[in-house]
Amino acid sequence: MQEDIFKVNNLKKYFPIGGKDNKNKFVKAIDGIDFTIKSGETLGLVGESGSGKSTTAYTVIGMYGITDGSISFKGKDIGVETNKRSLSIKREIQMVFQDPGTSLNPQHTVYQILELPLKIHKICSPKDYPNEIARLLDMVELPHEYMHKYPSMLGGGEKQMVAIARALATRPSAIVLDEPTSALDVSVQAKIINMLLRLQKEMNLSYLFITHDLSLMRNVADRVAIMYLGKIAEIAPTESFFKNPRHPYTQMLLSSIPVISEEEEKYKPERIHSQGEIPSPVNVPKGCSFNTRCPFSMDKCKEVDPQMICFEGNHSVRCHLCSE
Ligand code: SF4
Repeated sequence: MQEDIFKVNNLKKYFPIGGKDNKNKFVKAIDGIDFTIKSGETLGLVGESGSGKSTTAYTVIGMYGITDGSISFKGKDIGVETNKRSLSIKREIQMVFQDPGTSLNPQHTVYQILELPLKIHKICSPKDYPNEIARLLDMVELPHEYMHKYPSMLGGGEKQMVAIARALATRPSAIVLDEPTSALDVSVQAKIINMLLRLQKEMNLSYLFITHDLSLMRNVADRVAIMYLGKIAEIAPTESFFKNPRHPYTQMLLSSIPVISEEEEKYKPERIHSQGEIPSPVNVPKGCSFNTRCPFSMDKCKEVDPQMICFEGNHSVRCHLCSE
């Protein structure tokens, strides 16, 4: 049995709105979410813009402190900003950002970019840096000559490979991947995804994979969680999530994505049309936050926020329809 290395309980992250008329008003970017990630597992966290998925990533990595709840990693509480975390926790949890163009220092060569985490975390002795950097480039399938290049001399996919090599430099156990392929050309997306899957197997890495691309999760994630306005609407093992989606929001998203096989067609939900746009996180609707868009909304949905209900096989859903 694999151990849970991440445990997130009732996590909340609120941001003050600011301004003298908005005293004590907050944007509830994350409003009470729970999930775990096992060693070697990928949890796909999916949602539209404003759902809270990126705030979740930044809170797990320590860029934001938490408002309430807890995050633990290998049994240690890590619900604080990065500067208050121990060096060993920082070494073990790495992040790959969406845009490699802005996450790499343009004035440093690839060698300098990869050397920095080796120095900070004392991964090897300085005389071994060249060999270690060559090994990291091998892992991401880049030629050794690339260590002398600057980011501006690399393509988008190559920059992301360098960013992945930098994350691997500290020999982490977990990586937060914030839309790692969405800024890249379609032609290199598959290469990066396959590389991430191979590296996960080789190093038994745990991934928290943030994306708005639900179809990508079918082949990447072990479990999928879908976020809506700061809460998890549904979380399930990938097969159960795609074959038996229970939340109307999940059904709506799945009904609108293209399928490429008869098997996928068989499980595609009937087309569900949502009403309207995602509300502002500043003005979250009362009751179920999806009630303003849900075609199945009932009177109760406008008043009572549904609780998460767990079905067989760890398939959990937050919807009154599932409790009736
Ligand atoms: Fe729709 Fe009501 Fe379920 Fe919310 S609780 S998803 S509004 S049916």
